[in-house]
Amino acid sequence: MRKPIIAGNWKMNKTIKEAVELVKDIKSGDRDDNVEAVLCVPFTNLMEVKREIEGTNIKLGAQNMHWEDSGAFTGEISPLMLKEIGIDYVIIGHSERRQYFNETDETVNKKVKTALKYDINPIVCVGETLEERESGKEKEVVKAQVLKALEDIEEKDIESIVIAYEPIWAIGTGKTASNKDANDIISFIRETIGNKYSKDISEKIRIQYGGSVKPANISELMDESDIDGALVGGASLKSEDFLKLINF
Ligand code: PGA
Repeated sequence: MRKPIIAGNWKMNKTIKEAVELVKDIKSGDRDDNVEAVLCVPFTNLMEVKREIEGTNIKLGAQNMHWEDSGAFTGEISPLMLKEIGIDYVIIGHSERRQYFNETDETVNKKVKTALKYDINPIVCVGETLEERESGKEKEVVKAQVLKALEDIEEKDIESIVIAYEPIWAIGTGKTASNKDANDIISFIRETIGNKYSKDISEKIRIQYGGSVKPANISELMDESDIDGALVGGASLKSEDFLKLINF
């Protein structure tokens, strides 16, 4: 019922020239139509990548945005600017933004609301640190992040949101959460949404896993009951890997 969604998070990688080469290679490969493929690229690549994917079923995403339409926010990008380019998705609250750029649950909530207002689908990132996991607090932490991100958001909008569960200790480290652990937290997130809204909507929202996902572990993750896709950093930077991921 839930369409799998594999999103590449290129982070701060690829010049325009490199981005176009990568997208041309992804475009020319075989792609499973039943899987939604999204490229979340740096701001400077959005226009060119948009042109390149025209006429394909590949979707485009940004990696961040501000919640205000315009104003004195040096270095920021507004939802109107992204809307004009025609993006489909925006990553909100990635752990690197929370860690290095003071992103908080409050700013995440503002950005989610703004994205919904402009019909841009937010990919909302949540996840615990190693310390929190080791002290058995992962569910408490993730539940608080999810509830704050969804504060004052109406049930009708929930289906437009994608949640990415990314345990911080698994990002870029080569350590993946076990399939069972990832599925356990993801079904707990679904249950949390079910309790806040309804079981019906919790069965519809898509929840990804992220953290060292690669061609070698994607199919076992996707075999789990509640994992609807992946948010992929490192392995999304090579066309052959990304094509394997979207054809899991
Ligand atoms: P990784 O990054 O796949 O390189 O671990 C995932 C992410 O940060 O979204």
